[in-house]
Amino acid sequence: MLRRGYRRAFGLLPPLPPEMILQMVQAHRLFAVGQYSQSAALLENLGNSARASGLPRAPRVFFQAARANWHANQVSHGMDLMRIALDMLVAAGAVGIAGQIASLAMTELNGMGHKQEADQLHDYLVKIPGWQETASETPPEEKAKPALPTHCKQCGAAVRSDEVDWIDEITAACAYCGSPIRAEKA
Ligand SMILES: [Zn+2]
Repeated sequence: MLRRGYRRAFGLLPPLPPEMILQMVQAHRLFAVGQYSQSAALLENLGNSARASGLPRAPRVFFQAARANWHANQVSHGMDLMRIALDMLVAAGAVGIAGQIASLAMTELNGMGHKQEADQLHDYLVKIPGWQETASETPPEEKAKPALPTHCKQCGAAVRSDEVDWIDEITAACAYCGSPIRAEKA
């Protein structure tokens, strides 16, 4: 239901423009080598540009910016960015995606020992109108999806098969930059 709800709100999301993908590559590279503050600053700028241009992928960029901030020990600033991402999704009616991103974030925050912040996200979630119905839905009887590469070849984001937008049986769109990602042949 999550993905269908998102589609209803936005349609299949267009990819980020190429210059933004290049900045995202840089941000993911910095993240990968542990330069979290630089990565966080770049991602926040990118999120602001994406939002100013009205790009529907902006909330994902803010989510990445939030993660980079948590890794840089800028926990409360990361929470501010996380709230921007969630507010944008909820305002667009993409409650399912807001819930999905919030659960990923809660797992990550708990793993880093930031239980209080994880609980704040939970409190945020339960206050979203319509959240209960969405949360209680079990995932649709989706067929097992083919394995995707671990990272997006275009922007370098880590790929999760439950986070991407599936275009067809073997192709997904990167959740972050929108580039097509093909399943690897078994
Ligand atoms: Zn990508």
